[in-house]
Amino acid sequence: MIMQKFDYQAPADLKEACQIMANYGDKAKLLAGGTDLLIALKKNRISPSQVVALDQVDEIKGLWSDDDGIYLGARTTAAEIADSDFGAAGQALAEAAAQVGSPLVRNLATVGGNLVTAMPAADMAPPLLVMQAGVVLEKLGDNREIALDDFFVGPGEQVMLPEEIMSLIFLPELPSGSGSAFEKLGVRKALERSIVSVAALITLADDGKTIQEARIALGAVAPTPMLAATAGAGLCGKKATKKNFSAAAKTTAQEARPRGLRTSAVYSRLMVEQLTMRALTRAYAAASR
Ligand SMILES: Cc1cc2nc3c(=O)[nH]c(=O)nc-3n(C[C@H](O)[C@H](O)[C@H](O)COP(=O)(O)OP(=O)(O)OC[C@H]3O[C@@H](n4cnc5c(N)ncnc54)[C@H](O)[C@@H]3O)c2cc1C
Repeated sequence: MIMQKFDYQAPADLKEACQIMANYGDKAKLLAGGTDLLIALKKNRISPSQVVALDQVDEIKGLWSDDDGIYLGARTTAAEIADSDFGAAGQALAEAAAQVGSPLVRNLATVGGNLVTAMPAADMAPPLLVMQAGVVLEKLGDNREIALDDFFVGPGEQVMLPEEIMSLIFLPELPSGSGSAFEKLGVRKALERSIVSVAALITLADDGKTIQEARIALGAVAPTPMLAATAGAGLCGKKATKKNFSAAAKTTAQEARPRGLRTSAVYSRLMVEQLTMRALTRAYAAASR
């Protein structure tokens, strides 16, 4: 298939990128790692008049932190995230990034692109949901921050305006005694989008046994990545036992909204239960360290 013609622009900084997006709006498409965009262009699923490369926009690349938490530039690659130390509380994010595609894909794929594409199976979304991430969206002369939980709308859809650029993902400081884990099931072991993915985060009280806070998030088993809010809330105040994890895993499976596209809904729910059990067990081990 022949790709439609487009103009290529490579702004030097975020301000210039915002200016170009303000000029062209939905006629322009941003290019980060290109692992999703180039496929969409080649298949003529989209035909922008402008492709705006972000590879010189250094303000939105890398990780840094302050007393409030961690800032993750939207252009940071999955490989860079996989190699970063987010501590026990954030290990789910590094684990998820390490399982995106293959080494070649991970060296290109950015966290911003992963979220903006808004695929239900986006692997970096569930850990960011349990970490209560917020995303910063920039447009010329203005920006807004929204909770990731309010970002996704449906398969391939999110709340961004055509002229907006995701600049940062903000991870608030998590209490000590927090640990997280990520589990993924695909058909193959590599180069595979998730059939089911689960991230769990547990914060333990000072006694090291009572769960002060818990959050569980799912990928690929609903129209969007989602928090299993009832299951997470149900664990709060309970002891970190196999029995309580098992009950939470069953509730999580009920909260999933599988669409029955790549596997049956029954199988998806069974796998959600299994993977949630594993993720909670490992998140507890991480929180106990
Ligand atoms: C072989 C293969 C295997 C894969 N396996 C996995 C997998 O296992 N798990 C998984 O989650 N994904 C997987 N993917 C999907 C893909 O790699 C990810 O979704 C990737 O993170 C997208 O990021 P990117 O930088 O390549 O985005 P791009 O392709 O450059 O852009 C994707 C979309 O996001 C927009 N965009 C990008 N950055 C920004 C920004 N900062 N602000 C606003 N809009 C922006 C672009 O305009 C475009 O619409 C796979 C892809 C391939 C090709």
